[in-house]
Amino acid sequence: MNKERFDSSQHYACELDQKDKLAPFRNEFYIKEGSIYLDGNSLGLLSKRAEKSLLEVLYSWREYGIDGWTEGKYPWFYLSEELGKLTAPLLGAATEEVIVTGSTTTNLHQMIATFYKPKGKRTKIMADELTFPSDIYALKSQLELKGYNPDEQLITVKSRDGRMIEEEDIITAMSEEVAFILLPSVLYRSGQVLNMKRLTEEAHKHRILIGFDLCHSIGALPHQLSEWGVDFAVWCSYKYLNSGPGSTAGLYVNKKHFKKTPGLAGWFSSHKEKQFDMEHTLIQAEDAGAYQIGTPHILSCAPLIGSLELLKEAGIERLRKKSLQLTNYMMNLIAHELKGMEFTIGNPTDEERRGGHLYLEHQEAARICKALKENNVIPDFRAPNGIRLAPAALYNTYEEVWKAVQTLKKIMTEEQYKKYPNTRGIIA
Ligand SMILES: *Cc1c(COP(=O)(O)O)cnc(C)c1O
Repeated sequence: MNKERFDSSQHYACELDQKDKLAPFRNEFYIKEGSIYLDGNSLGLLSKRAEKSLLEVLYSWREYGIDGWTEGKYPWFYLSEELGKLTAPLLGAATEEVIVTGSTTTNLHQMIATFYKPKGKRTKIMADELTFPSDIYALKSQLELKGYNPDEQLITVKSRDGRMIEEEDIITAMSEEVAFILLPSVLYRSGQVLNMKRLTEEAHKHRILIGFDLCHSIGALPHQLSEWGVDFAVWCSYKYLNSGPGSTAGLYVNKKHFKKTPGLAGWFSSHKEKQFDMEHTLIQAEDAGAYQIGTPHILSCAPLIGSLELLKEAGIERLRKKSLQLTNYMMNLIAHELKGMEFTIGNPTDEERRGGHLYLEHQEAARICKALKENNVIPDFRAPNGIRLAPAALYNTYEEVWKAVQTLKKIMTEEQYKKYPNTRGIIA
């Protein structure tokens, strides 16, 4: 979209939709009539493809029983590897560096257990103070397992403004005492994209291992993990990968680490040809498969087959481009339509640093979100004062963005939000 040209009319939104080559992908999704879903960064919508592949795998159980492990269209024994292969292009990774397994948090535990090897003075772990709580819990508990006091061994890089983490500050904190760094690719609140290439280079200069939590970037923006030399990564598949609640997550291990013994081993860490020898000495897989633990959650892997196929057809570069256009358009509308209503744009505005969602701050955010839902616009609230709005490039339209901003304007002008208490629900 041409930045100079901005038009706040509905007609212009429709024009943008007509020109959008990705528009047909919307028909691949189940979209609730009359509802504008802007929460794809928390839980992506169900596509017909994901539904189909889920049912196919389910029926392979009905059809084959135990033989489903090796028979049928998607033999379960190789499904994690197959899905790794389909995920790799989204990461800029080699096929064998990616495996679909576990959850973000369990995969993170595996990565810490495998890669965090304190030695001499080098005992500390670095993260940031704005990161997702589960990541911090995992880091702290792993420190405790090693007999350390997390208050002493966990460094959390501070934010200057409560929204962003400056790369400079992360780099400054890299010292000879740091053994391991975990950072998000995109911050879950402000949507800030961290420069993974630069941070990886700097970490390696300081001889520190570095990995990223890609929950808010996978399926939203391209990565070049192998080219950047990232040591490891983890992610979930229910956000921009649209694979459903609790769908199987994934991990990336750079091939230079393939010989590393899994910190948390299980029989699915085995070399696939040796696994059923049932020996008590583990012969680990020679690829990222070594960092699996137990039997894969086959039914939770299944929707990924369909959803990754869709992402491949759409193309991650094209999706990123449209996503930037959608968020840019939305920011323009917000500036134009919500002037004087005390909203602050809390996400970075420049393209390199902006992820897939916007972060709108307002003192009354909790109840504004309730009013939005009441008006069939689905945002999500992040305490204390944030409204996350994620127009998903695969299924949202420019017109929906236009309508959502109009709805927000109406809620503010009519003070509709005052009907609700300014507190969050259980899930927000
Ligand atoms: C969504 C999210 C998680 C969720 O972890 P699960 O183990 O899938 O529950 C973790 N980290 C970040 C940054 C997230 O955005």
